[in-house]
Amino acid sequence: MTEKKLTPMMKQYLEIKAQNKNAILWFRLGDFYEMFGEDAIIASKILGITLTARGKGGDNEVPMCGVPYHAAEGYIAKLTKAGKNVAICEQLTTPALAGQSEKSIVERGVVRIITPGTTLNDAVLDERGNNYIVSIVPENYLRGNNEFDTPSQNFALAVCDVTTGEFGIVKVKRNKLNEELMRIQPAEIVLDEDSEIADIIYDGQINISYFSTIRGKRDVLINHFRVKNLEGFGLEKEELLTEAAGLLIEYLKETQKTNLSHINSLRTYSVDNSMTLDETTIRNLELIFTLRDSDREGSLLNVIDKTSTAMGARRLRNWLLRPLQDKECIEKRLNGVKEIFENVTLKSEIRNILKEVNDIERLLGKISLNSCAPRDIAALSQSLGKITHLKEWITETQSEVLQEINGGLSNHSELVAHIDSSLLDELPATLKDGGVIASGCNAEIDELREISRNVKNILVELATRESARTGIGSLKVKFNNVFGYYIEISNANKHLVPEDYIRKQTLVNAERYITPELKELEEKILGAEEKIILIERQLFEELRQRILQDTEAIQRTAYMVGCLDALTSFAIIAKERNYVCPEIIETENIDSDEQIVNALEIIDGRHPVIESLSFENSFVPNDTFLSEDENYIMLITGPNMAGKSTYLRQVALITLLAHIGSFVPARSARIPLTDRIFTRVGASDNLAKGQSTFMVEMQEAANILNNATKKSLIILDEIGRGTSTYDGVSIAWAILEYVHDQIKAKTLFATHYHELIAVADKLENACNWSVQVAEIDNNVQDQPEKKIVFLHKVLPGGVDRSYGIEVARLAGLPRDIINRANNIMETLEKGVVEKGIQNSLKRERVSDTQQDLFTPITHKQEVSKIPEHLERTHAALQNIDPMNMTPMEALAKLEELKKMQNE
Ligand code: ADP
Repeated sequence: MTEKKLTPMMKQYLEIKAQNKNAILWFRLGDFYEMFGEDAIIASKILGITLTARGKGGDNEVPMCGVPYHAAEGYIAKLTKAGKNVAICEQLTTPALAGQSEKSIVERGVVRIITPGTTLNDAVLDERGNNYIVSIVPENYLRGNNEFDTPSQNFALAVCDVTTGEFGIVKVKRNKLNEELMRIQPAEIVLDEDSEIADIIYDGQINISYFSTIRGKRDVLINHFRVKNLEGFGLEKEELLTEAAGLLIEYLKETQKTNLSHINSLRTYSVDNSMTLDETTIRNLELIFTLRDSDREGSLLNVIDKTSTAMGARRLRNWLLRPLQDKECIEKRLNGVKEIFENVTLKSEIRNILKEVNDIERLLGKISLNSCAPRDIAALSQSLGKITHLKEWITETQSEVLQEINGGLSNHSELVAHIDSSLLDELPATLKDGGVIASGCNAEIDELREISRNVKNILVELATRESARTGIGSLKVKFNNVFGYYIEISNANKHLVPEDYIRKQTLVNAERYITPELKELEEKILGAEEKIILIERQLFEELRQRILQDTEAIQRTAYMVGCLDALTSFAIIAKERNYVCPEIIETENIDSDEQIVNALEIIDGRHPVIESLSFENSFVPNDTFLSEDENYIMLITGPNMAGKSTYLRQVALITLLAHIGSFVPARSARIPLTDRIFTRVGASDNLAKGQSTFMVEMQEAANILNNATKKSLIILDEIGRGTSTYDGVSIAWAILEYVHDQIKAKTLFATHYHELIAVADKLENACNWSVQVAEIDNNVQDQPEKKIVFLHKVLPGGVDRSYGIEVARLAGLPRDIINRANNIMETLEKGVVEKGIQNSLKRERVSDTQQDLFTPITHKQEVSKIPEHLERTHAALQNIDPMNMTPMEALAKLEELKKMQNE
């Protein structure tokens, strides 16, 4: 576009756009928001709207698209979901005030920038989850150094949910950065424009916004929180945390353009107070979404979340991702759950009341950000009104946590009474046309409403009078926005129209008129209504300010409601699914001669999710026993589909549930305080990062072996599966020994390498368990045949058969293949692998250094004794996964195996 020929409006547009480069600019033109240039091209695609052009054919032709202002919300939601920022540019003066001259165009300005992390749009927000925005500042940044990816590097994170006002800061080391981000799951991350850390942030689909600021954020925080210094927040000497918090506050102010009065406190938290849950474990245990399709359904959260309010749902999710590390804190929650669990009336009363409580946190957020409708305030009042009733029930309780909740729930009856007396019973969706403030609140409004009502009656009289005077029975007084009040007379009666009628508009079938008397009445009505709306807006603003005076008390109430709801949810699921209160054990408190007591002991444990999906009572419960100093490793064998993974995960989930203060699915459970739960399960390709399945598997294993302690729980499912048999078994073996000798963590090790049974037998503190299957006679076409039935029961002892071929039969592979596979198996089972394993076991086990661990397994030497074609055939057979093959693939594989044999 050539500057010279630009219209004043386009000049204004470009000026505003230059200041909002990172957002799609919505430029208000009358009843539309228009977008131009690149913005229009991007938005038209996302929104599926037509792209046109402004100044078509001219030098200044520019792509353009637009949406009507009344439909804006829906379109903005689409852009936010696509990760785009939207800057809303409004007309700040009315066209009339701007005058008619070309130079004095309407004044415009950006009133708010909506980003994925700052949206208040219900169509975008998940009401049962937080919508966090996070700023990240690396330590080296303060020193002007761009070297970020070092392990000792500290990062400060400021975390805010604009919709609720929650604001926290935390310092983490490099290796905990992504874990923390995984827990927070931010909708948006804000980085300083010069920051180059985007590449090391975990690869979730996060929107990153860059923001240009200057260093030194102390004053930003002092001004925002209206404090003298940062002592109260413990930040006086915490430059890094101050930078992160200040960066986020500045960004929020820049985008929201309000004073953010509901963000009124700042909580410093530590990741060390909660059990570390790394990204892999959150995914593998399917805590908040499933591995397969990232769906909430089928996750642990989905099963245990019985909350009635959005605040409770969010609190429960937070608890789940931050398991406690302090026995007292866990027991405090457990005692609360127990009290609600045991008192059926209390449980159902709390639930009934909570069902009628709206999302107080988010309503207050909307009120604070001046983005509230009259109905939001009514909803807040209705919800706060329930708190008194809730308190009556909680006051009677005994447990510490419920008493704390009782103390945190405020009495809001004065505010509730004030709101209720200020608002009408029936409220409109917006404040725009008034009709919000109750009568009796303001004398002037009452008077104006009276006038308006009287005049309306006079209008009815006028219509009757004119009808009689003209003899036109159908004469009516009507109103529209363009012409105001008028008398409409059909063409058939036109000849009866008196002379003093002034024609205003001609329609096809009728004429519209006004009279001086009608005009005068109209002015009175419209004048009164305009004035009413003005006063209503002012009173509404006063009401909003009155509510904001109680911000802190309302936020505290909302927080406590969330906690109560989450505890009640634990009690409800415990009752519904027959969970028990776990006993939490802490090592330090136990005498050395009582070591055995310090064991993890689960009797009749169940998998909370699989159980909920199983037919009634069809889930087979299983016991677990892992002590701290002896028998801390369970090696679990059993065929595919027997239930090994389910068993492993159930132990991890029960341990986790106990640490969040929930009852657990078992007949009884004693759970030692656990510092971390590590999981290595299934195959999760990270193709986006260009890593093979096996590489990912080994990285996950490395993470476990480098970080686990004696107080950890390790779940290893099918380690070594992603490579050839010999590599795989060697790696699994070495890892098993290392965990046993070096780490000594409580470990569940499931494997299909039944060769490892002999290894576990030799290890002092490992024991063999297996998931049972039964073989039953199943004669087909008079041929004796065995069929296997999965019993899902985990019992001591290993199984030395993998039943792979039987599973293949169950899956429907053709009989010929099964028979042939059995023949091949027989040949292969001449002890090829077992012999190698046994030879290796005979050797002295070296256990002290990791490097040495790998040296005794000299498979190459042993393998050299095996005929080469057999080795290849065996390896190929081991890599077959019959459950994932079509019959045709199986036939082809068999052909390939046969060829190998003959080569
Ligand atoms: P594996 O890891 O041994 O291949 P899984 O743990 O994946 O086996 O279990 C296979 C299927 O068996 C699961 O989908 C589940 O439905 C069922 N299952 C597992 N454990 C049990 C159990 N204890 N009771 C009932 N069904 C179970």
